[in-house]
Amino acid sequence: MSAAPTDTDFGFRRVDLDAKQGLVDEVFHKVAGRYDLMNDLMSAGLHRVWKDVMVTRLGVPKQRPFRHLDVAGGTGDVAFKVVAAGSAASATVCDINGEMLKVGRERAGQRGLGERVAFIQGNAEALPCLASSFDGYTIAFGIRNVPRIQQALDEAFRVLRPGGRLLVLEFSPDVLPGLDRVYDAYSFNVIPPMGRMVTGDAEPYQYLVESIRKFPRNETFAGMVRKAGFSRVDITPMTGGIVCLTGGWKL
Ligand code: SAM
Repeated sequence: MSAAPTDTDFGFRRVDLDAKQGLVDEVFHKVAGRYDLMNDLMSAGLHRVWKDVMVTRLGVPKQRPFRHLDVAGGTGDVAFKVVAAGSAASATVCDINGEMLKVGRERAGQRGLGERVAFIQGNAEALPCLASSFDGYTIAFGIRNVPRIQQALDEAFRVLRPGGRLLVLEFSPDVLPGLDRVYDAYSFNVIPPMGRMVTGDAEPYQYLVESIRKFPRNETFAGMVRKAGFSRVDITPMTGGIVCLTGGWKL
């Protein structure tokens, strides 16, 4: 039997498994104030469309209550869309980073959503939530940053009620041949300098583009979702495979 790995990827570097979370936290601590602006600039607004597709797929009931958990939810984008989709829906944003949550709370206040969206600090690998307590679980552009991905998926399974829906939105390394060369050139030559211009630091965005290349391929990731216990696992590549939406049900 092979021993559990003690190291992992942090972008193109190998780091101790226990050191990765601290490095990730530093990245989001640095960019929190400019995170939303950078998302719009680097994706030309496409991240909004990808998040809309995910929330539509979630099937939030229009009027019945729906308890939703958005993990690594950062500044609240997905949670705001979930509560907009159903008049009796409520959402909890759970993120490990206090700076990202602070921005999220401010944005919720500005939108008058303070009552319907709660913000809690916690780790995707050990959620501060009761078993079977949510109807839906999403994680958008978050799971790539979590050191122990399988553990986070196991936690998603634990906190969902039987019949609950999991959706994972993430950048994918399975980009269409032909597009991949243009995308690589854009990623490595444009995004880090843009990050430096907007946030004053290129490093967090160098980590972003590297970490995408190290994320498991779509089918491998779908296998991890099944391993966590989810059924009817499906994958939907979008925008030439740049992102992938992976879904599953706790049945
Ligand atoms: N979901 C948001 C969105 O799509 O705009 C934010 C995504 S941002 C790229 C990644 C988020 O993952 C950050 O807010 C970061 O703090 C959070 N994160 C990283 N590791 C985490 C962990 N182990 N548990 C919970 N959140 C984590």
